[in-house]
Amino acid sequence: MKKFLIPALLLTFSLSANSQVTIDYYLPKTITYNTSVPTPKQFFGHEIGEWHLTHDKLYFYMLELAEVSGRTIWEEYGRSYENRPLGQLIISSPENIRNIEKLRQDHLSLCDPAVSDKADISKMPVFIKLGYGVHGNESSAQNSSVLVAYYLTAGEGKEIDELLKNSIILIDPALNPDGMQRHSTWVNFTRSLNNNPDPASWEFSETWPGGRTNHYWFDLNRDYLMLQHPESRGRVSAFHKWKPNINTDHHETGANETFFFQPGIQSRNNPLTPPDNQALTAEISKYHEEYLNSIGSLYFTEESFDDFYIGKGSSYPDIHGSVGILFEQAGVKGHLRETPGGLLSFPFAIRNHFTVTLSTLEAGLEMKNKLLENQKKFYKEALVQADKHQVKAYIFNEPSDNARLAEFINILLQHRIKVFRTERDIAKNGIVYNAGNSYVVPLNQTEYRFIRSLFEPVNEFTDSIFYDTSTWVLPMSFNLNYSPLTLPKEMEGLTGAELTSPPDPGGKLDSPENPFAYLFEWYEYYSPKALYFLQNKELITRVSTENFIYDDGNLKKTFSAGTIIIPASGQPVTGKELAGLMEKAAGECGISIFGARTGMTREGIDLGSNRIIVLQKPSVVMITGDGANSSDAGEIWHMLDTRFGIPVTMITAARFGTADLDRYNILIITGSPDISPAGVENIRVWNRGGGTIIGYESGNSWLTRNKFAEIEFIPEAGGGKKDGIYLNRTADRQAGQIPGSIFETKLDLTHPLCYGYTRDILPVFKSTATAVKKDLNIYNNPIQYTADPLLSGFCSSENIDRIKGTSFASVHGNRIISLYDNTNFRAVWYGTNKVFLNALFFGQIIR
Ligand SMILES: [Zn+2]
Repeated sequence: MKKFLIPALLLTFSLSANSQVTIDYYLPKTITYNTSVPTPKQFFGHEIGEWHLTHDKLYFYMLELAEVSGRTIWEEYGRSYENRPLGQLIISSPENIRNIEKLRQDHLSLCDPAVSDKADISKMPVFIKLGYGVHGNESSAQNSSVLVAYYLTAGEGKEIDELLKNSIILIDPALNPDGMQRHSTWVNFTRSLNNNPDPASWEFSETWPGGRTNHYWFDLNRDYLMLQHPESRGRVSAFHKWKPNINTDHHETGANETFFFQPGIQSRNNPLTPPDNQALTAEISKYHEEYLNSIGSLYFTEESFDDFYIGKGSSYPDIHGSVGILFEQAGVKGHLRETPGGLLSFPFAIRNHFTVTLSTLEAGLEMKNKLLENQKKFYKEALVQADKHQVKAYIFNEPSDNARLAEFINILLQHRIKVFRTERDIAKNGIVYNAGNSYVVPLNQTEYRFIRSLFEPVNEFTDSIFYDTSTWVLPMSFNLNYSPLTLPKEMEGLTGAELTSPPDPGGKLDSPENPFAYLFEWYEYYSPKALYFLQNKELITRVSTENFIYDDGNLKKTFSAGTIIIPASGQPVTGKELAGLMEKAAGECGISIFGARTGMTREGIDLGSNRIIVLQKPSVVMITGDGANSSDAGEIWHMLDTRFGIPVTMITAARFGTADLDRYNILIITGSPDISPAGVENIRVWNRGGGTIIGYESGNSWLTRNKFAEIEFIPEAGGGKKDGIYLNRTADRQAGQIPGSIFETKLDLTHPLCYGYTRDILPVFKSTATAVKKDLNIYNNPIQYTADPLLSGFCSSENIDRIKGTSFASVHGNRIISLYDNTNFRAVWYGTNKVFLNALFFGQIIR
């Protein structure tokens, strides 16, 4: 240890308001630097820390380093929503760089127990991934990456040579380019020539929604598991391509804190992560301790943050044989800021991240063989443990919705989980899994631990507090049929062909020429996309409010309530054009559309029944900006925009007093926007005139406050403690919360909010302790928590008592619909999305 220690001793925490540091402030002075490599100042025209780098400047510097040096290559692995490049700068000795593909392949062999014993670890380099700023407004992280890249590309001498000879370093300089661009633009344009450290300054209060999140306002540091965004899809693919041994994740926390490095809270580690991982994390932390001591930076460990939720940048590696390390620097969120601990400067924050990067690299070098052995052992043990585990495989299907099933399988495949078709029918827990449309994931594979974390409900915990959600059972979020298989004989002859890509959902038009009407079921995931597409072509569309059996000798089928019917006559297009549109809708949305010869059904209502109601195309306005809940609003925007092709007009609260709402027929309200009395009146008049309001999560409190609906909230349980001590006050309070758990609800399948569901039991996600009494009108509570509702995750018994039998969603008079919990959580709750879409498309017909 100590080889790279920074000799600049105990530079003071604070810097005067106008002084700008030079690169010497950051870099070790024990080595020399190759002058043919441009310094950041030579490239940008200013020092690091003087301005916040925009993403494009940072990116072009990385390209420049790759251009000028034989040690450095740039690998692009994806593009963000705003088409910004995502990638990593790969740095090693020139010789390693020339052999990089061979070294990578040899390295990957450690993850394959069949061949890993053949590897000579002593001759292999360690792979270290350095990741900066997944939260775009945690700028000291991304800005420090530039110094790391310069240091490793330009540094000269024995120490650097030794490091590069024995390691492959992957610098991911900005994990969230779109958020980084927003935040850097904000702090640069609000900055004064003379730094103003007043915390009340505009510079420190970034405009809504801030730069933390990606383009659709998602926290990318929760998406490593869900993989719903291009940033994470590319990153996880790059992770599996390189399988780094250490994976750092550089963040910022509150301005009044110091510096955090892992280990975090030990009692909250995910039990599926092996103890070796924590031991290595602790050993690596000794290096951070020494390096931060050398520059006099205060720090803390173990008292905050945990690795229970495995979908974060510091925890996903832990359950893949790597060591993920979280760093949290007190965030300036500007250039210089007063804090109770003195002036906090942007350069100071950058230097801390740079310094722990050096300590990580030294730890990686000195612990190289141990880290490589750990990786090998991790995967070997996975197979041994799988052999002993009582569950042999998980089987799943979804007979009525190929697209939802395909999206689920797509996630598994991206995580390198092996999925197979089933070869024979099997019945389990009352569900028949037919060969052909059922799939099986055996546990006897290297991703054994990760598979368990995705499929296994959890009901026992060593702690009652969670930094993030307490459960994430993926088949539940997709509302799939699934069962564990525990008997060896169940596995006999079951496994068929391995999938190499998600199954094609299909989608076809099955119709005679010139049919009387077209019909399609609502239970396919992309049916709403097809409906909107057709409505957008000005077609007259209707929804059936009852089941019926159709049989014209050619087509014979039971259609469910929620079926969409498009009569051939009375449309603004010719019969031929109509057929073309139907063909296109079926193909592009992957759904089945049927043509019917007659309007007469065999059983139940006929196609001309007045219980088949004409639908208006949804025209959606959503309250956005200050007061709105950006993650709720972002999830809605993302879903409607990227999956269903439905435009959302986003209007800020301040404009509601004068906004012309007549263009819209749906208003979505999240959070607690501050709308003027004139704006509230405007909404009220519009609602009385026929507009539908969807109150979403906390938006329902706004509806109650403004007398749009009478909602009776059940008081919070308060942790259930009758007695306690001051020291435990925060923990006691948190134990009364619901950190994100999965509950069971019961559906009234005849209600328009439940159209498209084929089973009357639905798992839902709940991350607040809100509970709402049922509406007194018994028909207004179509989705209710069951009497024994907890399916997976943590919930105190007091909260279970509060929640059981209450409403998940209710409707009020005047087309006002309340969704009390999140139907679109992290874009991965495909199973409950339809409730939201039903409110959007069918809210207008609920009486
Ligand atoms: Zn962060």
